[in-house]
Amino acid sequence: MSSIIQLLPDHVANQIAAGEVVQRPASVVKELLENAVDAKATDIKLIIKDAGKSLVQVIDNGSGMSVTDARLCFERHATSKIRQAEDLFSLCTKGFRGEALASIAAIAHMEMKTKQDQEELGTHIIIEGSKFVSQEVAVLPKGTSFAVKNLFFNIPARRNFLKSDTVEFRHVMDEFQRVALAHPNIHFTFYHNGSEMYNLPAAGYRQRIVGIMSGKTNEKLVPVNEDTEIINIQGFVSKPEFAKKNRGEQFFFVNDRFIKSGYLHHAVMAAYDGLLKDGSQPSYFLYLQVPPNTIDINIHPTKTEIKFDDEQALYAILRASIKHSLGQFNVSPVLDFDRDANLDTPYHYKDLEGETPTIQVDGTFNPFTDDKTNQHYSKSGSGSGSVYSSGSGSGSYSGYNKRVEPTATWESLYVGLETDTIESSPFTFENEEEVTSSLFNDNEIEQASQGTYQIHKKYIVSPIKSGMVIVDQQRAHQRILYEQFLLNMTVNQASSQQLLFPLNLFYSSDEMILIEELKPSLETTGFVFEDAQTDHIVISGIPVNITESEVSMVIEQLLSDLQDGIPASSYSQNDTIAKSMAKSLAVKTGSYLTEKEQDNLVNGLFACKDPNISPFQKPTFITMRVEDIDKKFAL
Ligand code: ADP
Ligand code: MG
Repeated sequence: MSSIIQLLPDHVANQIAAGEVVQRPASVVKELLENAVDAKATDIKLIIKDAGKSLVQVIDNGSGMSVTDARLCFERHATSKIRQAEDLFSLCTKGFRGEALASIAAIAHMEMKTKQDQEELGTHIIIEGSKFVSQEVAVLPKGTSFAVKNLFFNIPARRNFLKSDTVEFRHVMDEFQRVALAHPNIHFTFYHNGSEMYNLPAAGYRQRIVGIMSGKTNEKLVPVNEDTEIINIQGFVSKPEFAKKNRGEQFFFVNDRFIKSGYLHHAVMAAYDGLLKDGSQPSYFLYLQVPPNTIDINIHPTKTEIKFDDEQALYAILRASIKHSLGQFNVSPVLDFDRDANLDTPYHYKDLEGETPTIQVDGTFNPFTDDKTNQHYSKSGSGSGSVYSSGSGSGSYSGYNKRVEPTATWESLYVGLETDTIESSPFTFENEEEVTSSLFNDNEIEQASQGTYQIHKKYIVSPIKSGMVIVDQQRAHQRILYEQFLLNMTVNQASSQQLLFPLNLFYSSDEMILIEELKPSLETTGFVFEDAQTDHIVISGIPVNITESEVSMVIEQLLSDLQDGIPASSYSQNDTIAKSMAKSLAVKTGSYLTEKEQDNLVNGLFACKDPNISPFQKPTFITMRVEDIDKKFAL
């Protein structure tokens, strides 16, 4: 039988390799930016068109290439960055596999211009699908420019696989941000379809982070610094109160390379233990430097995952140093010994004469009597500020002999909470007569609204003709809100409440892009936006069933729900928005509901088109027939 094995031609091998390295325009951006960084550029420009689908261009002022190198760089396994396998353990460059340019050239139209500083003339090469089209000598500035056009022109299947411009652009943005955050000492500019997205002058870490995220980021950051033999940690973490709903602002850089590490992420989360609300995510920008021989970068073609020699030690150091920083930030005002105590005097006391407190002795005091009214709760008057607390100016120490009622104070902690939840329950159902439930006949529903009872601040129980119904309050309310929002969006009739003072909400630039995309749908729910800004939105009207204080929470939840890409059709975008807003605004398990609210909830649920399940496909209620209950008692 004849032999059948053949060596693949280079251009085929390159196309196959490209499958690993180049998944989308963002991959090209990453590779070209990293090459420019490796070429020691101090100024790097990124220019893209149509989210990188028609053009990705990177212009740098780095070392440039000789004529020979300019030709060689497109060969597979052609690299100037390592010479032998051992070099892999002393890497200081982003690249080393020598396959990026060969891969990109195999699947796109590519134009390169490059010139070294000491040369008079440079080289201009055009290569399309691994074929050299032209090579010329040209007058060029120092540095290199790569332009990549028509990505995947010869692999239609992959071209069709690309997502919408918005999604692809977000990927490009992510890659740009990662490289720019890792190298604050380099001046980066970024243009998309002719408009400037970023212009980031060389700076320190903090300025770069603020430049990339938003102006408001600065006040949220707590510095982290730790230097040990095996690792140096620098960077910033966010104060716990600024934790977000999504993981968009979490960055690890190891030896100036962005990496993903679930293990190190866990270390950061462990440092925040007890400081974060459930499910909220801190922002972090952490720059780790480790000896190059203690890590292995070559475990993944895109090099975003690496292996550490001593992961456990790094975990412990990282967690401890962040804990320390957060602790310092929390206690520093209290432990500020250098502070002038006079500055702490309340403003309206500054001109008053200091009064000497007089001490009154309670002659009747007997420590051995049981009479609690006589007991001294010295705690009530402790603390230096309490001298002012009487405010009477009588000079007597009013804390003395004052009876403290611990239970009363303890209970009062909850008073506000309860009324809060009651007030913020947005129950307004206008369609009560439109009851269309397949499960209950009209009689039963009437009965259902006759008596309801809330148990465990979670379920609402109500008798019906055949037995009883138990409604999950949170899921039921989600269903009601979801249908309301969807209805408003489809008939486009949402009413909105005008705000007295427009709300300014700040977002990072990729969040702003998402919001821009969502605006038309959000407007159909009742939001009114004023003119677009670059780093914040101005909201002048909000849907009627949202309170002003809930707005930022609702939008943040929405952004987090949409993190994985915007659904293509507008129907499903509306659906996502309706679901997300229903989730944010629904009354939660644990909230007390008045009888009227319970009633509205049960009626509202059964007025829904689809009362049986929540928007997230969970049952909203169960029924128990009298026979079922009888059976239980018969046992
Ligand atoms: P790698 O970066 O892994 O070495 P690449 O295919 O990305 O592989 O690049 C091949 C070689 O081309 C690099 O090793 C470098 O010598 C050269 N090169 C690529 N981009 C530039 C640039 N912007 N400036 C100077 N040299 C470059
Ligand atoms: Mg490279």
